[in-house]
Amino acid sequence: MELSALLSYLDSQLDCQRFRDYCPNGLQVQGSASATHIVTGVTACLALIEAAIAAQANVLLVHHGYFWRGENPCIVGQKQQRLHLLLTHQINLIAYHLPLDAHPVWGNNIQLAKVLQLQHPTPIDHPDLQGCLFIGQCQPHHTGETFKQHLTTCLQREPLHIPAQRHSIERIAWCTGAGQDFIEYALDAKVDAFLTGEVSERTVHIAREAGIHFFAAGHHATERYGIQALGKHVADKFSLSHQFIDIANPV
Ligand SMILES: [Zn+2]
Repeated sequence: MELSALLSYLDSQLDCQRFRDYCPNGLQVQGSASATHIVTGVTACLALIEAAIAAQANVLLVHHGYFWRGENPCIVGQKQQRLHLLLTHQINLIAYHLPLDAHPVWGNNIQLAKVLQLQHPTPIDHPDLQGCLFIGQCQPHHTGETFKQHLTTCLQREPLHIPAQRHSIERIAWCTGAGQDFIEYALDAKVDAFLTGEVSERTVHIAREAGIHFFAAGHHATERYGIQALGKHVADKFSLSHQFIDIANPV
């Protein structure tokens, strides 16, 4: 299919104008005018670009692209190497950051709820959160220990768990990626546990003093699912080929 048709479909579905983001969303690096083989991945690192070249992809669809607010805008060093490879191989780099975290069907948060079997996932409505903090129920009810085990099994990675006195986890809030500073909003929502990808030193004290369970289950591990779901959806809809390539990351 024509790249332009794929892009206009993606841009309209992901509703990018709605977000105040830290990077451009949509086409970040232009390549071939046609889209036939899509590789998806979490982050457009050099290893993923090399894997996309080996897979003969002409579209690389990611959650973490380039051109972040505050970064050096010059095309030098590692950035030059990445861009040089993409441009030489005419690979289109398409990235969706917050629009993919928040998307109600293919988003990272809703897809994580599916993987973890969290019930009634609902975004908390607050202008600061941009639809990226969700609330739901753990069913069957877990204790801190059993939920830690559940995360380890589902995400194939042992999470950091800051335990709390309260025994069972019924109400839980989550935000994939680096959502640790949303913990205060989770507390306002009266949850038993808060789950995100990363942790800061201060997060531990906030969780302990509030008496809720806190889990940091990995930025990469919690954000593998949205981009896969989106890639599969567009591949099925437009009869394109698609593969997800996981470049392991312990953080
Ligand atoms: Zn992220």
